[in-house]
Amino acid sequence: MTNRRLHPQSNAGLIANYQQNWKRSFGADRSPEHWLLQRDITLHDLPYTHSLLQTAYIQWLLEIPSSIRKHLKCVMLYDYKGECLEGLDKLNELGTATPLQELVQRVLSKRKPVWDEETEYAGKVAAFPIVSRYTKELVGIVQFVCEESDLLHSFALEGWVYALRTHFYREFEHLFVEEMYHTHRMSEREAERREVLYYVMRHIHDRIDVDSVLSQIIDGIQRLVPDTIVEVYLSQDHRSENPNVKALVFKSWGDPIVMEAFMKGETCTANSDAGFEVAFALNGKQGSYGVLKLIFAQEQPETSDLQVIELIIETAGTAFENARLHEHANNVIQELRLINELTKRINQSLRLRDVFDDAMHELLRVFHADFCMLLQLNEDKSLFEVVSSNMAEYVGSSYSTQKGLFGYVLNLREPVIISDSEDHHIERIQMIEDLGLRSIIAAPLFSGGELVGIVAVADKRPHFFTYDNFKLLQMLSAHLGLAIANATLHDRVKHLANKDQLTGLYARHYLDKQVNRQQQKDFCGSLIVVDIDYFKQVNDTFGHQIGDKILVQVSDIIRSSIRETDIASRWGGEEIAVYLPQLNTTQTKKVAERIRNRVEQETDPKVTVSCGVAEWSWQDEKVSVETLFYRADMALYEAKKKGRNVIQIAVGEEHV
Ligand code: GH3
Ligand code: MG
Ligand code: MG
Repeated sequence: MTNRRLHPQSNAGLIANYQQNWKRSFGADRSPEHWLLQRDITLHDLPYTHSLLQTAYIQWLLEIPSSIRKHLKCVMLYDYKGECLEGLDKLNELGTATPLQELVQRVLSKRKPVWDEETEYAGKVAAFPIVSRYTKELVGIVQFVCEESDLLHSFALEGWVYALRTHFYREFEHLFVEEMYHTHRMSEREAERREVLYYVMRHIHDRIDVDSVLSQIIDGIQRLVPDTIVEVYLSQDHRSENPNVKALVFKSWGDPIVMEAFMKGETCTANSDAGFEVAFALNGKQGSYGVLKLIFAQEQPETSDLQVIELIIETAGTAFENARLHEHANNVIQELRLINELTKRINQSLRLRDVFDDAMHELLRVFHADFCMLLQLNEDKSLFEVVSSNMAEYVGSSYSTQKGLFGYVLNLREPVIISDSEDHHIERIQMIEDLGLRSIIAAPLFSGGELVGIVAVADKRPHFFTYDNFKLLQMLSAHLGLAIANATLHDRVKHLANKDQLTGLYARHYLDKQVNRQQQKDFCGSLIVVDIDYFKQVNDTFGHQIGDKILVQVSDIIRSSIRETDIASRWGGEEIAVYLPQLNTTQTKKVAERIRNRVEQETDPKVTVSCGVAEWSWQDEKVSVETLFYRADMALYEAKKKGRNVIQIAVGEEHV
C-alpha cells in the first residue's frame, strides 16, 4: 500500500543478519548466489520481514483474477506472530472479528491451513500459513474471507498462497541484488577515491610551479566529485592562468565562509542559494596560503569524499608552499638579472632618447604587459610629454600635471598601482580609455632629487600586476632615474662644449660641423662675417670689460635678427660668423643690413659693424667651410676699406 520499492536501508537489519549468517556458514569466499540457493529465512530474520511481506502482498493481490476477487470480501495478511499487516480496516469493518482472530491463532499453533467450520463464518473463511522454503519457518499468515460459504474451496487457495510466497522471495532476492549492487558501487567508488588520491599525491610533489600544483588539486577533486564547482582563493597575489583561481578579498563583501576557513585555518561548511558549500584552508608549514571552496549544487557530498579531499588539500598545502618558495627564489634571481640587464643597457646609451627607448623595450619584456610609456616633465609648459612608447602614435602627446593619473603620481611622488581602472577614483585619462587599459603601475622618475618624469606600464586585463611587479617597477624606476640623470648631464656638457661662454653663441667648431653637414643636403647657403669696427679703440677707451659687454650686446642683436635655423657663432676675437641655410647673398644682405643697422642704433657705448657676405651653391666646384669663410673674409676686408659700417658681398656673388 505504501512504497512499491523497498529501500535497502529499511531492511538494514535483515541484510546485516544475513550477511552474518552467510559468513558464518560459508566464509567470505563463497558467492552470494550459491548461498541464496541453499539458505533461507531463519527465526532471527522474522522481525525484519514486514516490508517484504507487504510489498509481495500488494503485487500478488493484483494477480488474483477478478472472477475470484469479486467473491472475496477481504484478504488479510498477518506476520509470523499473527499481527495484522494488511486488511486491518476490513477486519474492523466486519465487526465480529474474533472468530477470524481465532482462526489465525490456530494457524499459528498448527502451522497448517485452517477452515472455519463452526462460527457464523463457517465455510466462508480460511487461513493459510506462509512457510519458508527450506527451514519451514512460519513467515506470515494469509486469510481469505468470502461472501458465500463453500465457494472458497473451489478457488485452489493453497496455490495462490504459494504464489504469494514466490512474490515474497522475489522481493527478498531483489533486496539482495540491490544490496550487492550498492556494495559493489561503494567499493568501486572507494577504488576511484584511492586512485585519485594516489595520483594526486604522487604527482603533486613533482610540480615546482604554483599553477600546476593548483591545477593538479583542482583536477583531482573534479575527478572525484565531477559536478562540483571548485574555486581556489589565494591570500598572496598570484597571476594564474586557471579561471578557478581567484584572489582572497579581505573586505566586508568577501565570501564569509572563505574568510572563516582562512581565519580559523580549518574546514567550514554552509548552505547557500548555490548549494552546499565547503571551504578548506590551504595551510603549509609556514603559514596559510588561501582557501579551496567546493560548491555542491546537486546533492550533498559523501563523508568519505570529503575526507579524501581533506587529505588531498593537506598534502597540497605543503606542495603549494614548496612550489611557492621555489617560484619566489626564481623570481628573485630573475629580478636581479633584469635589473642588471636594464641598468647595463640604459647606462650604455648616453643619449636621452636612447635611454628612454631602451628602458621602454626592457620594461615591456620584463612585465609582459600590453603597454609601456615614458613621460618627461616639461616644467615650462606644466605638462608631461610622452618621450617613448610602444604605441608610436602616443609619442609626442602630452598630459596635464594637474589632474589624472600623472598629476596624481606627481603629487604623491610615489609609485601607484591600479588593479582595475574601472573601479578607481582617479580621474580617467582618455588614453587609458581608448586603449581599454585596466591594470596600471606607474612610478615617478627622479634625477638629482627632482621629479623629471613618469614611467607607466599597463595591461588590458584587470588585476594583471602583482605586488612583486609593483616593487620591481619601483626599483627599476630608481635606476632609470639615474640613467636619465647621466644622460641629461652628458647632454648638458655636450651643449656647453658647443657654446661660447661669453656670448652664448655657438663655438666655431660647431658652426664648421653644421655647415659641413648642411652642404651635404642643401642646394645653397650664405655666410656673414661680422666684425666690430675699431674695437681696439673701444677697448682702449672703455676698458676690456666694457668691450666684452659690447661684444655681448652685438651678439644678442645678431641672435635676435636671424631665424632659428640660422647658426651664429663666435668665430674668433670680436668676429662673429652667421650661417644662413638656403639663402643667397641678396637675401642674406638684407639680414646683414638689419644687423648693421640695429648695432648702430642699439649698442651702448655705440659701435658699428662691418660685414662680409659670401654664398655657396651646389654648382660650385669647391664647396667647403674654409673657402666660404675665406671669401666672406675677403669681402669684409673690402668693407673695412670702404670706410666701415658697411656690408660687402664677395666678388662676383652679387645677384642682379
Ligand atoms: P677694424 O675696424 O679694422 O676691425 O679695427 P679693430 O680695432 O677692430 O681691429 P681688429 O678687428 O683687428 O681688432 C681686434 C681687437 O679686438 C683686438 C682686441 O683688442 C679686441 N678683442 C678681440 N677679442 C676680444 C674680446 O674677447 N674682448 C674684448 N674686450 N676685446 C677683444
Ligand atoms: Mg677683427
Ligand atoms: Mg674689428
